Amino acid sequence: MTEDFYDILGVSRDASDEEIQQAYREAVREYHPDVSDDPDAEEKFKKAKTAKEVLTDDEKRRMYDQMGHEQFVEAEKRGATDSGRGGAGGMGGMGGMGGGGPFGDMQDIFDQFFGGGGGGGRNRPRQGQDLKTSLEIDLEEAYHGVEKQMDVRRPEQCSDCDGRGHPPGTDSQTCPECNGQGQTTTVQQTPFGRMQSRQTCRRCEGEGTIYEETCSTCGGNGVVRADATLTVEVPAGIRDGQTLRMDGEGAPGERGARNGDLLVEISVADHPDFEREGDDLYTNAPISFPQAVFGDTIQIDTLDGTVELEIPDGTQSGEQFRLRKKGMPRLQRRGQGNLYVQVQVVTPESLNADQKEALEQFAEAGGEEIEVEQGFFDKIRDSL
Ligand SMILES: [Zn+2]
Ligand SMILES: [Zn+2]
Repeated sequence: MTEDFYDILGVSRDASDEEIQQAYREAVREYHPDVSDDPDAEEKFKKAKTAKEVLTDDEKRRMYDQMGHEQFVEAEKRGATDSGRGGAGGMGGMGGMGGGGPFGDMQDIFDQFFGGGGGGGRNRPRQGQDLKTSLEIDLEEAYHGVEKQMDVRRPEQCSDCDGRGHPPGTDSQTCPECNGQGQTTTVQQTPFGRMQSRQTCRRCEGEGTIYEETCSTCGGNGVVRADATLTVEVPAGIRDGQTLRMDGEGAPGERGARNGDLLVEISVADHPDFEREGDDLYTNAPISFPQAVFGDTIQIDTLDGTVELEIPDGTQSGEQFRLRKKGMPRLQRRGQGNLYVQVQVVTPESLNADQKEALEQFAEAGGEEIEVEQGFFDKIRDSL
């Protein structure tokens, strides 16, 4: 008979998050491999950790309850239960982000953090991992530059143990497994002779020291899930898809090593009036038939106030005019792109009697003979 996660932690199926955390802390005290003599301690500790991770994640707990233990474990092996973690690098981590979710605009980037794992060694604590998130701004904000607040849930150093994984003042001893070296050497007999290889010590995870007690807040890994509000300085001229790097705002480094960075991918929302191509902007402006014929000065809305555009006489519908340096600012350089204005000559949908007469005279003077449709007269009569 397989134990399910509730049995492992010894809690009821309707246990609260609080009760689960409590049960987990007890399991840590009892089974942490550094403190327990139980030969199965490590196995039990791992099981308790997995059980806690699943049962304290609302989404996973819901799936677990629905699927049952065996099916869930199978699905988890295939990675099917992990929406946020995605594939390798790239946009993978973006999957579970933005909108929806129980935390409104909170972006939960904790699950990008893998923690633990090999590498390192006593003298070289690992630098924290870079994490990714995304931020949407509008075109006006991209034009002027903007300071944005962003809420993230991310891994941070456990303050109860300062990231060491054990309470301050805990008794410690040199790791007997590696004699304090942080690495162990294995010798293998191969067809080519004896091969030596070195690994990070599994007992002390490369630190060379083991401690009598494990920090119950972080379960010994020195890292907790924490909410933070960050201020992102978005520079003027930023383009859709560009990434800003926030130094040291990623995952915490190991034992005093440098934090990773937070990479913020900016998406610039489409604007109803402007198309952007590089640093240039494109917009449309309606003009009347007389304006096209005689020329005029018209007002054009830009992202930074209104400017005047000279329409020469004899302008055709669809003609494009350039307003120099009225486009987007160039990112981290001087100058600006251009704003291109395409004019559209608007054909009136109805005319009053005077307009009708004038237009008929216009046609006549040009030697044009137009057969005006009945429907058109109706329209004119209606407008009288
Ligand atoms: Zn060791
Ligand atoms: Zn801690």
